[in-house]
Amino acid sequence: MSDFIRNSVAIGSKALDYLENEDSEIYGYLCDEFNRQRSTLQLIASENFASPAVLAMTGSVLTNKYAEGYPQKRYYGGNQFIDEIEDIARERAKVLFSTDHVNVQPHSGSSANLAVYQALLNPGDTVLAMRLDQGGHLTHGAAASVTGKMYNFQQYGLTPRSTDGGERIDFDYLRDLAKTSKPKLIVAGATAYPREIDPTVFRAIADEVGALLMFDSAHPMGLIAAGVHVSPVGIADVVTFTTHKTLRGPRGGAILCKHEFAKKIDSAVFPGLQGGPLEHVVAAKAIAFKEASTENFVRYGRQIKENSSILGETLIKEGFRLVSNGTDNHLVLVDLRDFDADLDGKIAQESLDSVGITCNRNQIPDDPRKPLVTSGLRLGTAAMTTSGMKGSQMSQVGSLIARTLRNRNDENELKLIKDEVNDLCSKFDPYPEGEMWPGMANFEA
Ligand SMILES: *Cc1c(COP(=O)(O)O)cnc(C)c1O
Repeated sequence: MSDFIRNSVAIGSKALDYLENEDSEIYGYLCDEFNRQRSTLQLIASENFASPAVLAMTGSVLTNKYAEGYPQKRYYGGNQFIDEIEDIARERAKVLFSTDHVNVQPHSGSSANLAVYQALLNPGDTVLAMRLDQGGHLTHGAAASVTGKMYNFQQYGLTPRSTDGGERIDFDYLRDLAKTSKPKLIVAGATAYPREIDPTVFRAIADEVGALLMFDSAHPMGLIAAGVHVSPVGIADVVTFTTHKTLRGPRGGAILCKHEFAKKIDSAVFPGLQGGPLEHVVAAKAIAFKEASTENFVRYGRQIKENSSILGETLIKEGFRLVSNGTDNHLVLVDLRDFDADLDGKIAQESLDSVGITCNRNQIPDDPRKPLVTSGLRLGTAAMTTSGMKGSQMSQVGSLIARTLRNRNDENELKLIKDEVNDLCSKFDPYPEGEMWPGMANFEA
């Protein structure tokens, strides 16, 4: 492992030297995973490479501190510096996203969503959200999720593939559903939707039926920070997000809201849902907000979108159909059926994995196959963009994907592809020696 990263992933290389000798099992797998991330292509749309500064902070002594409560209102002593850190995180998020209020304590995007439901709803209340198999998230009322058990979720989805422009959020259906079901809350946002989601249309429908609006921007929050995706802040009553997807920070969640909901949201997070906050992660979130406030990050956001669009165009040329016929965010959702009727998502994912292309199979709208098999692949460009890849690499990646899937039973061809993937990754190391901002050198003016 490079000294540079050794110094970033924990308190310093001494701790890793110790681990290497005293706990070689975990140390070994840390090295294996580090090498896997650098030597294979990371196309999982919800993943990214956090900066060494973020890595260092999540491995810091801040993990030792109990800080139940909020700045200046803690239940434990010794929080004078923690208070400063959490205040800085909140202030940076407020400026970055132009919001009234922010809660940076949710441990994850799911916790953030649960906290909002806890703040705004009573058990049994009606909520509208996007169906899981149409691109929604588990916490949008899926039957397997506690959200689906506690609240009366009614689900909307996408227009059929035959619609002009392909599958889009079916706002006519949503409006009718809102009128008949009279929801207390409407949830906008998705986990596998390749188009920008317009918060103003949701706002109008929510206003027509007197519902509150929550926008779950877990995926596009980095694009929003970069100003290349419309911001739901100030339009939705509450905005939830994750800090580790396109925003490129530590694994975690956060909530933005209007003044009137601040108290309710804060008490829903603590003491409603969580105990002690992860202040090492809160500090890393503060670092990520600062990184996302730079001009470099604006260029980064633009490049993510450009890369996604070039990847999509290449895949279409190679004979794939994309859900919604394209993309205007960081991800594409590939419908595999037109490319090869026998190819399902599971086989595709496994074939790509075998050559070092990491992605996830995904249900496509009205998928005829089961959720564990599926007929689709979800591919995102945030991580590849962080590692410095641009348009020509995206065309190469798109062609490599097609070649792999066409030749999935040809061992020799797969071996050649694997070498090419390896070679590409070696030229775009996300953690190059001596650079504070992985890949960021590529976005300098
Ligand atoms: C990723 C995601 C979440 C959940 O985030 P976790 O941190 O994995 O809990 C919630 N909503 C949407 C739309 C997501 O994409």
